[in-house]
Amino acid sequence: VIEVGQPEHSAVTTCAYCGVGCTFKAEMRGEEIVRMVPWKDGKANHGHSCIKGRFAYGYALHRERILNPMIRDTIDEPWRVVSWEEAIAFTARRFKEIQAKYGKNSVGVITSSRCTNEESYLVQKLTRAGFGNNNTDTCARVCHSPTGYGLNQAFGTSAGTQDFDSVDDSDVIVVIGANPTDAHPVFGSRMKKRLREGAKLIVVDPRRTDLVKSPHIKADYHLALKPGTNVAIVTALAHVIVTEGLANEAYVRERCDWDEYQDWAAFVAEERNSPEAVEKLTGVPAADIRAAARLYATGGNAAIYYGLGVTEHSQGSTTVMGIANLAMATGNLGRRGVGVNPLRGQNNVQGSCDMGSFPHELPGYQHISGEKARAAFEAEWGVTLDPEPGLRIPNMFDAAVDGTFKGLYVQGEDILQSDPDTTHVSAGLAAMELVVVQDLFLVETANYAHVFLPGASFLEKDGTFTNAERRIQLVRKVMSPKNGYGDWEITQLIAKALGLDWNYDHPGQIMDEIARVTPSFRGVSFAKLDEEGSVQWPCNDENPHGVPIMHINGFARGKGKFVITEYVPTDEKTGPRFPLLLTTGRILSQYNVGAQTRRTHNSEWHPEDVLEIHPHDAENRGVKDGDWVKVQSRVGEASLRAQITDRVAPGVVYTTFHHPVTQANVITTDNSDWATNCPEYKVTAVQVSASNGP
Ligand code: SF4
Repeated sequence: VIEVGQPEHSAVTTCAYCGVGCTFKAEMRGEEIVRMVPWKDGKANHGHSCIKGRFAYGYALHRERILNPMIRDTIDEPWRVVSWEEAIAFTARRFKEIQAKYGKNSVGVITSSRCTNEESYLVQKLTRAGFGNNNTDTCARVCHSPTGYGLNQAFGTSAGTQDFDSVDDSDVIVVIGANPTDAHPVFGSRMKKRLREGAKLIVVDPRRTDLVKSPHIKADYHLALKPGTNVAIVTALAHVIVTEGLANEAYVRERCDWDEYQDWAAFVAEERNSPEAVEKLTGVPAADIRAAARLYATGGNAAIYYGLGVTEHSQGSTTVMGIANLAMATGNLGRRGVGVNPLRGQNNVQGSCDMGSFPHELPGYQHISGEKARAAFEAEWGVTLDPEPGLRIPNMFDAAVDGTFKGLYVQGEDILQSDPDTTHVSAGLAAMELVVVQDLFLVETANYAHVFLPGASFLEKDGTFTNAERRIQLVRKVMSPKNGYGDWEITQLIAKALGLDWNYDHPGQIMDEIARVTPSFRGVSFAKLDEEGSVQWPCNDENPHGVPIMHINGFARGKGKFVITEYVPTDEKTGPRFPLLLTTGRILSQYNVGAQTRRTHNSEWHPEDVLEIHPHDAENRGVKDGDWVKVQSRVGEASLRAQITDRVAPGVVYTTFHHPVTQANVITTDNSDWATNCPEYKVTAVQVSASNGP
């Protein structure tokens, strides 16, 4: 059902769903939204949209939205609706009491990849300037933290190299562990258009996604690897490039560290990294690996796009660096049509990382241990900063269970549903003395909260989001906040109650402060964004209008760095008890944990999560299509309906995590990336058996 009617006023704003960052005109009648019209001048979408951004806005005015603050002393008590004054005073008093009793490091925050840059900036500032520690993390921890780490190691910047428009000049498109037609639909369509024009396609994915085979599109190579073997296959691709003399050595000599390249080349050339050796690990025919590597290296402009199927592994960071190695070795960087392009999941996951949400980095990826960077923030904020990195999200839960972490402020993130090993997350939350949840709805995490602060939707505030191509775009307020405040104002109220002298009147002033302390944002202002529509960072004196394509004349770190990517098998092993590998993903009509899209008509397309299982595995278990099955891992079990399909290979099962009732993350484990602790959502050993339902 699409609401229609005559609009009375409108504003051009940015979609609050995925990292494509489509621009829309939000048309309003009074305080009611009439429709979202895709904006033809939107630089990320050029007038296109998907069923999330265009139709799934009903959640903003959904009857289940909480509009008044609530508090309770223990999580067993019913909520008490209170005034904003009482809720903020309670929050500040409890944080102060906890820090006085357990020490300054006993509290922390989680910023939101759905809120604006200005809101993320303020939440991490609250932690550092108000709590006096660096216990700030972001939900990027559980998705693209390996991208931040890996690309920074290789190139010196924690972001994708290209703009979306670049794909129009690609001759070869490599998609690794990403499903853009479901998760990034507008860019997925753009990619399909280029493929229909004749570009070649290599897909590396355990599952047969729509890109592999759909009307008018067929991948030239589908490397359907066993989950958990990304590093092995990426290194095998490099083996072919090096041993068959396909590397662009002139590029490498000029742009990269030649000695490191030679060490790396010797490593990948070892026989154990050959496609023939790797076939046994990955299940991918050696001939396909060889052919795909030749196509990538010699097929013209070749671009790699990757997603969470790369990052959410125990070797997520290693794979990201392996992908960077491939691009450097073939010279596929620094011009249109090429590059290393992470497809970021949430609307502002790039921005929340840029804004210093990580426990070791200030805004602009400036390490907290750096005296010069710290001094700039200390001068701006008028405080002394702790140089020690703080706790990552999983460490917060561990410390809570151990009794040393007692208070958490979570803005716009349902950690209980989105984070892995739900049982451990709930144990951590239950052990805390203060959990403050700021959200639109009573999300799952709110079951463990002592304070609920109602948040505002993207239609109710001004600010900026940064999309997957580093594009900073304005979010414009089209209605007054139903809860009374924008999220940035709520954080400011808490800061003031903690004794901080914050007096921002508008998010534009926050951006001005961000520009003063963040070199890559030095040229960004609301006035410039208003005038130019958007800019892609870095935007500063050297690049006043931003940078669509990075590393044209050299890398941000100087010489590009080749890193040796040794394949280390995940600890998650199949065996007689858990003989199948579960991998997880997303579907077109839903978004993340579904808190928003489940409260829209989109739910009619996907009313429940299901378990995809191969016909052989289903038959072995006496399971028929639509039957309930029990899925057990070593940490938990869940019930889902079976969907029998050969999209997945024998031995592999797949589900989504959009609905809390199925609780897919009860099954996922605490394995995580060695460098960043990004959870290994993509590989869980499970058993599947017929059941009678939940
Ligand atoms: Fe929104 Fe992403 Fe869909 Fe664009 S592709 S409308 S940003 S959900």
